[in-house]
Amino acid sequence: MKIYRVNLNTEEVKTEEVPESYAPLGGRALTSQVISDEVDPGAHPLGENNKLVFAPGLLSGTRAPSSGRLSVGSISPLTGGIKESNAGGTAAQYFGKLNIKALIVEGAKDDGKNVLVVNKDGVKLEKVDGLKGLGNYEAGDKLREKYGKNVSVMTIGPAGEHKMTAASIAVSDIDKNPARAAGRGGLGAVMGSKGLKAIVIDDTDAPGVVMHDEDAFKKASKKFSKIILDHPVSGEALRNYGTAVLINILNEAGGLPTKNFESGRYDKADDTSGETMVDIIKKRGGKASHSCHPGCIMGCSQIYNDEDGNYFTAGFEYETVWAFGANCLINDMDAIAYYDRCCDDIGLDTIETGVTMGVAMEAGIIEFGDKDGVKRLFDEEIRKATPLGRLLGSGSKVTGQTYGVTRVPEVKGQGIPAYDPRAVKGVGVTYATSTQGADHTAGYSVTANILKVGGEVDPLKKEGQTELSKNLQVATAAIDSTGLCLFVAFAVLDNEEAVPTIVDMLNAQYGISLTPDDVTELGKQILKVERNYNKKLGFTREDDRMPEFFQKEKLPPHDVTFDFTDEELDSVYQDLE
Ligand code: SF4
Repeated sequence: MKIYRVNLNTEEVKTEEVPESYAPLGGRALTSQVISDEVDPGAHPLGENNKLVFAPGLLSGTRAPSSGRLSVGSISPLTGGIKESNAGGTAAQYFGKLNIKALIVEGAKDDGKNVLVVNKDGVKLEKVDGLKGLGNYEAGDKLREKYGKNVSVMTIGPAGEHKMTAASIAVSDIDKNPARAAGRGGLGAVMGSKGLKAIVIDDTDAPGVVMHDEDAFKKASKKFSKIILDHPVSGEALRNYGTAVLINILNEAGGLPTKNFESGRYDKADDTSGETMVDIIKKRGGKASHSCHPGCIMGCSQIYNDEDGNYFTAGFEYETVWAFGANCLINDMDAIAYYDRCCDDIGLDTIETGVTMGVAMEAGIIEFGDKDGVKRLFDEEIRKATPLGRLLGSGSKVTGQTYGVTRVPEVKGQGIPAYDPRAVKGVGVTYATSTQGADHTAGYSVTANILKVGGEVDPLKKEGQTELSKNLQVATAAIDSTGLCLFVAFAVLDNEEAVPTIVDMLNAQYGISLTPDDVTELGKQILKVERNYNKKLGFTREDDRMPEFFQKEKLPPHDVTFDFTDEELDSVYQDLE
């Protein structure tokens, strides 16, 4: 395998051997290690000394089920901390098949034309006219016209070009739509700051992953597929209703943040539920289940058509539906689909942008429930990068500060996702303590709190939550390094054969003899690297706290607060520093 390093100042591309210490690392383990090793903590996130690292997971490019996740690492302009933003789509599988361990982008020079072309011959910097200012849909079409219809395309939209700190990096899905993203942490703005509009990956005649023991790999991979498919969530619910199946579940549990986290229940939640979404999709000839990359057997994505039956958007996730729905008191699926498409095209994180719209409503910029107002903010402000548009495109914290809003749901500058931390306390601990800022995927305690997967911990009580969050943060860091989609965790947590089977796949591929304990150690090691790097960036334990209003305001219907002491929160990373 090779590491490619591109410097946009000098326009030089280097091919490097993989250092021995990086050989066992992939995905998040590798991106975080490279950032920690190579980026001076004094580097401005949007300056030429920050780096952007793309790394497929250890299993990406193989036939391991749902193993096509890509890690993108950098210092985040949104949180100011280390960031691993995890994306689906086709890129990771292509990188894996091309035997690319990592692509490191350095320097910065914006001539509006930079495109990296990755193929069997290596990486080349090319100059392409006519891309500047284009949305992700049009940019992707132009690049496929030039480089071939089957290439994987990663692009930034106008938000990234304007360095808005909620900007995402779009990744094309199997239908060539830019509907998957490295969404969190504003890494699209980092790509924009480097003057890099796109990365095109062509896997034609790719050598394919070198497999140490093909038969053993096939056997383990087949077993792992069965483990995933036998589980009711990963094998059934995700495929039938997508992640939006969680709308009614969280609403029932009183943990669906409503009206900028004023309540845990939304009386019109069913209008935007997974069940309603699937009804609309079926009526309009869309697809209720769709995979974001080849080889995903869970297929939680979907194709959402417009009223005339034409493709409108895809990858319409629970988080997105919630962020613009219950959070903004908007109960119109088509309106939310429009905002989802805007985010995909302009290149914005849907969670951050939805949370920001809630804050904008709290600030009185528009009223709660004003669906035309949200559309106007997208079309007239953010897309045109007006001063207000740039502000909204820079996320919840900046917007809240600018308008003097005291109820801003964010931790370390990143908007809080779709589970109220007072009523789903385990995920609240994750939001507060994660190295990534508020991020449900960093330690998805919703499993044991709400879904009764991998055990049962009362979501409304503090007991067991710090331990649960810590264990899940460790496990997640390890999974994020394999390239497996985090949704395999439902099956992994409920089946004791799952982790040994993942280990079997890794051993068969690389000819090594890892044990399940090694995987846990890898997870701990990643968190230590990230935590210690964040310290160098100036983070302290005081940054592991929830905003005041979560501690003071009781959340209906359960009338609960986020009541963890500082010591309890500090216990999570006690032995991970
Ligand atoms: S389960 Fe969903 S997010 Fe995960 S890889 Fe499959 S389609 Fe992508």
